[in-house]
Amino acid sequence: MTTIDSLQRLRDSLTPTARMPVVFLGHGSPMNAIEDTEFSRAWTGLGKTLPRPKAILVVSAHWMTQNTTLVDVSAMPRTIHDFYGFPQALYQEEYPAQGDPALAREVVTLLASHHAEEDDRWGLDHGAWAVLKFLYPDADVPVFQVSIDMTKDLDWHLEIGKTLSELRDRGVLILGSGNVVHNLRAMRPGGSPHDFALEFDALVTDRLTDRNFAALADRNGLGSLLRMAHPSVDHYIPALTIAGASDERDALTFMTDSIDLGSVSMRSFIYHPDAA
Ligand code: ZN
Repeated sequence: MTTIDSLQRLRDSLTPTARMPVVFLGHGSPMNAIEDTEFSRAWTGLGKTLPRPKAILVVSAHWMTQNTTLVDVSAMPRTIHDFYGFPQALYQEEYPAQGDPALAREVVTLLASHHAEEDDRWGLDHGAWAVLKFLYPDADVPVFQVSIDMTKDLDWHLEIGKTLSELRDRGVLILGSGNVVHNLRAMRPGGSPHDFALEFDALVTDRLTDRNFAALADRNGLGSLLRMAHPSVDHYIPALTIAGASDERDALTFMTDSIDLGSVSMRSFIYHPDAA
């Protein structure tokens, strides 16, 4: 290797990693993991568009904890098939990415004021792997999950995002996976969207756009519309964490903005450094 080559390599390695985008994906039905849908195609396209991360931190709707925020520090997170009554092919899916124990332990420290603790039992639930298999099909980026503490109010999850946001400057992709509207009791396969679904989806879109996240975390202000859109807020919380991890310098891009099954918004959004 010539000196010029060495210096070039050094220069490349010293270049600060560009600030990473933060991404929220509506994951919807587990079947999206094995079907060619407009959603799975969008995830594939997004994976080819994003800067390549050094690691991925996933906040999934499906890892719910009480009075603690768990961080998976395992070296090889297992693939969890956390759904029932689906075709056998879905249970055979594996996402063999490595974890990132060192970074995950740093996150435990970072989230100390949010009662964070190490965990090595969870792995990757379908909120994580069902989208990751399209984003990074080679499973060659280390990934670990952070749980959502269901005992805490909504602004807590905005705060967690804000605290995690410093990882963006270290090449970490913070990925939230849930749904902007998620009412499984009101599902109507093949049917048109419920009014409440359209209304809440539009409200979230507006508040994300004008960065009024306090309004999105205001249970009283959102009132019955929130209860219709989210009988349980597990699928909403990851969107708040991603909003919290954004900042004023970010531009906002939406994708896959349709309502599936009448009551599941597939709206996804990316806050990203503005090239302009
Ligand atoms: Zn889900």
